[in-house]
Order: sequence, then structure tokens, then C-alpha cells
Amino acid sequence: MSNKEWLRQLSALTVLPYYEQHKIFGDKSGALIGTHDGYIVAVGLGRADGNHAAVKMLLRFSKAPDPQRIKQALEPVKGKFKVVTDESTAALVRTYSFGKPNAASIAEDLQNLLAALKTVASQISGKCEECGRAEQQVLLLNNVPGYYCSGCQVQLRQKLDAAAVAYENLETNYFLGVLYGVVAAGLGSIAWGGVAYLAHRIFLWGAIIIGLFVGKAVVKGIGKVTWPARILIGVLTTASVLFGDAIFYALSIAAREQAVFSVALKAVLANFWEIERKSDSGVISILFALVGAGIVMYSTRKPAFKAIFVPLGTPASTLSSAAAK
Ligand SMILES: [Zn+2]
Repeated sequence: MSNKEWLRQLSALTVLPYYEQHKIFGDKSGALIGTHDGYIVAVGLGRADGNHAAVKMLLRFSKAPDPQRIKQALEPVKGKFKVVTDESTAALVRTYSFGKPNAASIAEDLQNLLAALKTVASQISGKCEECGRAEQQVLLLNNVPGYYCSGCQVQLRQKLDAAAVAYENLETNYFLGVLYGVVAAGLGSIAWGGVAYLAHRIFLWGAIIIGLFVGKAVVKGIGKVTWPARILIGVLTTASVLFGDAIFYALSIAAREQAVFSVALKAVLANFWEIERKSDSGVISILFALVGAGIVMYSTRKPAFKAIFVPLGTPASTLSSAAAK
């Protein structure tokens, strides 16, 4: 069954409108978004836990002082879902490997979850989440359905714009960024060389982990994400892997020739490119280093400070059209 058909079926079972155009869970099939007994409910398909296919659900309620209590109430009825709660949202994820779970079973899970939610959380519908003024329309704020009056929409936008400007104006400390980055890269080299020596192989994800580690250190030192910071992360990641190779060669030589490690390292560094070129793993290392650096540079983004409000519009499939099928 296609994702769209599955969602249409679930829409008929749950009486939740189906919006093909709102891909809030990542999948292009869209999502069901609506209200049930005063709670906002959204269900759709997406990815979770390292790219596993998953059914995803959001249940939204009035701000609660103790999200942990809501999690506890949902735990016994969550079925195969995993639950995470914050003060106004319970996010549920259920991964699957062979075919989507039966739509009827998901509808049943939803019913049980809502029944449990009613016992611990108050309804959210009918009022602005910020100021409490009457507001009937659900809309999406950065892909999360909620209630926001027009005045609070403007304010939220301004607040985030101000946060973006404040971030731009943060002081940068490149000296500290380089210092932290070099230390992190050095530790990365030792780990890379050590693992290669002990395991007799290298791993692409090793380069990515080093890159993430170096990236964290550089951004922490500099204070924010900038273009020079990204370039520094790429260069240091590559250097870290290559120096890690040098450590690996030196360890191997020192063991074989019973030489002192520092002497072996010096000799390796003096002939580094030649050794690296001749060794099969050397070429792969350079490739891995560049791929790792590229991925990490790409993924090191500035934090997003944007409030995007999208009205729900017209559902692609209403209950009546789904039932008529
Ligand atoms: Zn408001």
C-alpha cells in the first residue's frame, strides 16, 4: 500500500483531515492534522533512528508544569511507540522494517493515547498558546501545528529576528577556535592512528566522528558558526586524519623494527606523501578524510532563527471523499 493510501485509510479511521501538502514529518505523502477532544493531533510517516521508516505522531496539549507526568501516563498505552514529552507536546515514533503497521492498529493506539492524555493534560484548542486569546484556527509554526493569534505571530517573528541579529553580532574568538580545534584534531589523530593500528583497518565513520568532534571544538572556541570556522573545521579534520595515518605508520614501524616511536614518527613525517601514496589504505584515508570533512562542514549550520507560519488550508482528502472511495 502506498503511503498516501495508508494515510487516507487512517484519515477515514480517525476522522483527521489529510493534508498532502504539509510534509511535517519528512515524507512527501504529507500528514493528518486536526483536533480530537480539544487536543491537536498530527500523524504521518517519516524517518527515525538512523533512517528507519517510522510512523510519527504529535499530540499537543495546554502547557503542563510537569511533562514527565504526561509521559508516565502515556507509557502504558503507547503500544510500540516511543514517547518524548515537553511542556506542551508528546512526540511519538514507531519504527518498522517490513511494511507499514496496520492503519487500524495505529488508530487504536491513537485512541488509547488520547484517552490517557485526557486524564493528565488540559485541552489546547480554541485559544492562542502565547496569550490565551480566543483563536480557532490551527496553523503550522515551523511545521508544528498549534494555535497562535495574529498579534502573537508578529511578536514571535520579531523575537526570532532579534535573536538572529544578536547571533550575528556575537563576538568571535578565532584564537580560541584554532586552539580548541588543534587540540581536538590532535586527539582525533591519536584515536585514528590507534584504532588503525589495533584493528588493522580504517573506518569512514571514524573520519566523520573526528570531524564532528573538531567541529564542536572550533565552534565552541570561536563562539558561533562562520565561514572561516567551517573552513577551519574542514582543514583540521583532514589534517587530523592524515596525522593519524602518520601515527599508524610510526606505530607499525616502531613495533616491527623495535625502534623508538618518536624516531619512527620523525622518519614517517619526512617521507609522508611517498608512504601515503604507496599504501592502499593511505589513499582511502585521504578520501575518507575529505568525505568526513565535507559532511561535517555541510552539517555545521548556523542555528535557524525563523518563525514560519503556514495556514493549514484545504485538506487533500476530507473524510467524505475518503469514505466515498
Ligand atoms: Zn496570542
